[in-house]
Amino acid sequence: MTKVAIFPGSFDPFTKGHEDIVLRGLKIFDEVIIAIGINSNKKRYFTVELMQKCIGETFKDFPQIKVITYNELTAQLAKQINAGFLLRGLRNTTDFEYENTISQVNTYLNQTLETVFLITSPRFAYISSSIIREVHRYQGNIDEFLPYNLP
Ligand code: ADP
Repeated sequence: MTKVAIFPGSFDPFTKGHEDIVLRGLKIFDEVIIAIGINSNKKRYFTVELMQKCIGETFKDFPQIKVITYNELTAQLAKQINAGFLLRGLRNTTDFEYENTISQVNTYLNQTLETVFLITSPRFAYISSSIIREVHRYQGNIDEFLPYNLP
């Protein structure tokens, strides 16, 4: 059976840390679907359209990696697209506390869904979307943190 994993997130922006999780995920799963969550209550810095384009370019040579957007519960999305796994990354204990809770709720909502966590590669452990946004807001160079060139 084909093993399909969803890698959900805000990806505001998608970083080299995210790229690393996706590529390592391919060692475990046949297909990884990067799902950009659209949350109307959360104001974004980089648009969903821009991120979808940049992520698509990043993985243009990987037919087994797809990028979609969604506006519902991740557990529901997984049912709809027949994905058996959620892929998430863990950098530190703060991530763990948050991810642990989300994972419990997702299991409650969809008992067939398994969350798989990959520990961040040390060289990407310090990269976070929020810090990158802050650097960019004040005209700092963020190229080093992104696997694509911003237009
Ligand atoms: P969310 O808004 O759902 O937290 P993010 O876009 O911030 O979405 O992150 C998506 C996933 O990627 C989360 O599991 C997060 O812990 C993980 N992640 C973020 N940055 C890194 C990194 N540098 N290394 C490994 N995992 C990361």
